[in-house]
Amino acid sequence: IVLATVRGDVHDIGKNIVGVVLGCNNYKVVDLGVMVPCDKILEAAREHHADLVGLSGLITPSLDEMVHVAREMERQGFRLPLLIGGATTSKAHTAIKIAPAYSQPVVHVLDASRAVPVASSLLHAESRATFAQNLRVEQEHLRQQRSQATTTLLSIDEARRRRPAYDWAKTSLPQPEFTGVRVLDSSAGGPGSSCLPLSLSELVPYIDWSPFFHTWELRGRFPSILDHEVYGVQARQLFADAQKLLETLLSRRLLTARAVYGFFPANSVGDDVELYVDETRSHPLTRFHFLRQQMEKGDGSPNYCLADFVAPREIQAGAAAGIWPDHIGAFAVSTGFGLDSLVAEFKANQDDYSAIMAEALADRLAEALAEYLHHRVRLEWGYGKEERLTPAQMIGEDYRGIRPAAGYPACPDHSEKEVLWQVLDVERTTQIKLTETGAMWPGSSVSGLYFSHPKAKYFAVGKLGLDQVKDYGQRKGLSLQVCERWLGPWLNYEPTTPSDL
Ligand code: SAH
Repeated sequence: IVLATVRGDVHDIGKNIVGVVLGCNNYKVVDLGVMVPCDKILEAAREHHADLVGLSGLITPSLDEMVHVAREMERQGFRLPLLIGGATTSKAHTAIKIAPAYSQPVVHVLDASRAVPVASSLLHAESRATFAQNLRVEQEHLRQQRSQATTTLLSIDEARRRRPAYDWAKTSLPQPEFTGVRVLDSSAGGPGSSCLPLSLSELVPYIDWSPFFHTWELRGRFPSILDHEVYGVQARQLFADAQKLLETLLSRRLLTARAVYGFFPANSVGDDVELYVDETRSHPLTRFHFLRQQMEKGDGSPNYCLADFVAPREIQAGAAAGIWPDHIGAFAVSTGFGLDSLVAEFKANQDDYSAIMAEALADRLAEALAEYLHHRVRLEWGYGKEERLTPAQMIGEDYRGIRPAAGYPACPDHSEKEVLWQVLDVERTTQIKLTETGAMWPGSSVSGLYFSHPKAKYFAVGKLGLDQVKDYGQRKGLSLQVCERWLGPWLNYEPTTPSDL
């Protein structure tokens, strides 16, 4: 079985767990790692005479890449089944977009526990035909369901009329302690270093442990999961092992954490947010572009866009002259430096368990660093000084303000990370890179924007109409075709142009 995370994507843990589970069941697994281009995957499948190919991906552009691999397998006359897995993949997407591109079975594998039964059904001559037939029926059913489901959207003009209206004259606009960029580095060395120090052990109280258990496919919430009647014992064992390795990671300084963040004078201009070089706001620095909900709400609630949470550049008639002195923040963090060599060392010692554990902990530390930095940002922005939160409330994001991340439902376009990378000079200051499809390398990285508005909240943009996508392309200076590729899963229409670029 050849496994790979597709081109541009760095998702690893889920695929590694699948690899271990299959290996324990006597399958020979060839794991090609992450960011693997299609030709490498198909070459390996031929070379190893694979019986199955498994593709994994975390970010939405990987869905297109999987369709591309399926199409290539068809074109090159492959006869082996294809398995699909990873966070944004689904049964529906597999049926509607990937399976039609390839005449052999294309199976969505929900999690590692499903990998063995699926592989064994596909590889045994007696079960394969029935399995493939049932799959065909099920996928055809999903395709029909989809073709009947149509969503009626508001025009983008109407959606904009229904935006939330905030009274800016009555909204406090907190002024950050500084504007510009700061860099933190856990390996920052003493005087002369332009980076501020950062301590990994300070991040521990900010760790959200619930997703740690989800990574290991134990569903539930921490800490009650430790007493779960079915898998409490396993959860305790995992947690104890995690504490032990975490202690080693911290005391031996095996991982390096880096962060860059900044505050910028900013105002909304329509559905964009414009950033300025300084407080005079006469020279634009850059722009973030956002998308607006176009669904008919029916309950009178507004149609949100992240730009609504930033004061507009133009002050409405009747208000004081000038421009609202609003700001926006931006950040990118990683705790993944040093992880690759650590994982390689564990794997060389046949210790797959610790290798996966190390990756899971690095991910937890990256999210904890994002939480820690957001806390620091609220203090520096001023409005966080009154905050009195328990660690659980902090992890529950029970505070004023949000940190939406590109690729998530309120701002689903991963390509906006390119704007963020420029404005914070992320690659030079931290060495965190963006792949061609907008994934962050190393994998244990998080980035996003800070909004301070008291009413700022997370929402899902949902389906997009052609009118908005055209407008968005014009705002970004991108062709409709390129925009449609980045926004593929959210289009409420079939693009007429091929999405495969
Ligand atoms: N405590 C969690 C944090 C990650 S999930 C952990 O340790 O894994 C929550 C984060 O996802 C938010 O801080 C935000 O950055 C992002 N997010 C969640 N919902 C979002 C949405 N609708 N739009 C944009 N970003 C969102």
